[in-house]
Amino acid sequence: MAKPFRKLVSCVILDLDGTLLNTDDIVSNVLSAFLVKYGTQWDGKAAQKIVGRTPYEAATVIVEDYGLPLSTDELLSEITPIFSEKWCNIKAQPGASRLINHLRCHGIPMALASNSSKENIETKLSYHQGWKESFSFIIGGDQVTSPKPSPEIYLKAAKGLKVDPSSCLVIEDSPPGVTAGKAASMEVVAVPSLPKQSHLFTSADEVINSLLDLQPEKWGLPAFEDWIEGTLPIEPWYIGGPVIKGFGRGSKVLGIPTANLSIEGYSAILSEHPSGVYFGWAGLATRGVYKMVMSIGWNPYFSNTEKTIEPWLLHDFNEDFYGEDLRLAIVGYIRQEANFPSLESLVAKIHEDRQIAETALELPQYSKYRDDQYLKSSPQQQSS
Ligand SMILES: [Mg+2]
Repeated sequence: MAKPFRKLVSCVILDLDGTLLNTDDIVSNVLSAFLVKYGTQWDGKAAQKIVGRTPYEAATVIVEDYGLPLSTDELLSEITPIFSEKWCNIKAQPGASRLINHLRCHGIPMALASNSSKENIETKLSYHQGWKESFSFIIGGDQVTSPKPSPEIYLKAAKGLKVDPSSCLVIEDSPPGVTAGKAASMEVVAVPSLPKQSHLFTSADEVINSLLDLQPEKWGLPAFEDWIEGTLPIEPWYIGGPVIKGFGRGSKVLGIPTANLSIEGYSAILSEHPSGVYFGWAGLATRGVYKMVMSIGWNPYFSNTEKTIEPWLLHDFNEDFYGEDLRLAIVGYIRQEANFPSLESLVAKIHEDRQIAETALELPQYSKYRDDQYLKSSPQQQSS
């Protein structure tokens, strides 16, 4: 995807919503609840049209697409207070704090350029410790004549950093943002926040799946030093439920028996985590705790908002365990999802992932989670 000759940069300009913050979840939650009042339903289709836009532009799209009996200004005055209440709940995108800390520790100047208003930016940043102070310059959509996709906001950000636009790397989640960065003659890495949209990002210099996949050294910036033996430690997260398919498709087609987990009720937690290959520990209440490697991905049978999770327990079971309660502690990341030219190369890669996970889980920073109480508790204990 990346072009062969990259310009090296010395500064980074970051977008906020969708890039550093998982704003899309809040937007769809608020709109879902709000549109019901007007007898209509949020179907997510407008998400693509509003991503990266100013609040006014986004509100205009919503009024038109849903035929609301409101003017754009009326919608904004109704919905802005609802959003303001939710900003404290916006989660950082996986890898966002890691990236900000890394650049700050290496003294790389950073700016923040968002189509959101300066006031809103400050409020959103205030919920994330250490973020605001990390930026030498912050600029909002209300401080420019033309918001993104115009290059103005990025050119002003470069000026604010006192550098030439050509020495800036932009990191963006939306097509208008990428267009703005390129129009400002900057290098642009796209991290699409909406799934399956990579075709809209062809003008970006590189498209990555999540901030976890950023390789700053490709742009002449200091490399991350937290990868260990092909794995990236992550803040552990937990998910569990009944096994809905013991030895199914994975076993028959690939020779890889995945224990598929019912994702009912888990779409929120899954939407927070980028698709890709992860690993950790798996607990089966009556059997024990096992090493596990798993993929998170978009199931074509579901709508774009549903992700699935396919854990592979690294143990030879001699029977199925459909319906049993499976608990997962996900502790590390291996790689983003990839396309493979053949089934053989896919299977080879999955076995390589298995090897990486098995070895890594012996390391103290991962092995300590084997004893996590979550893996051993029964569903009754959990709910009490
Ligand atoms: Mg954005």
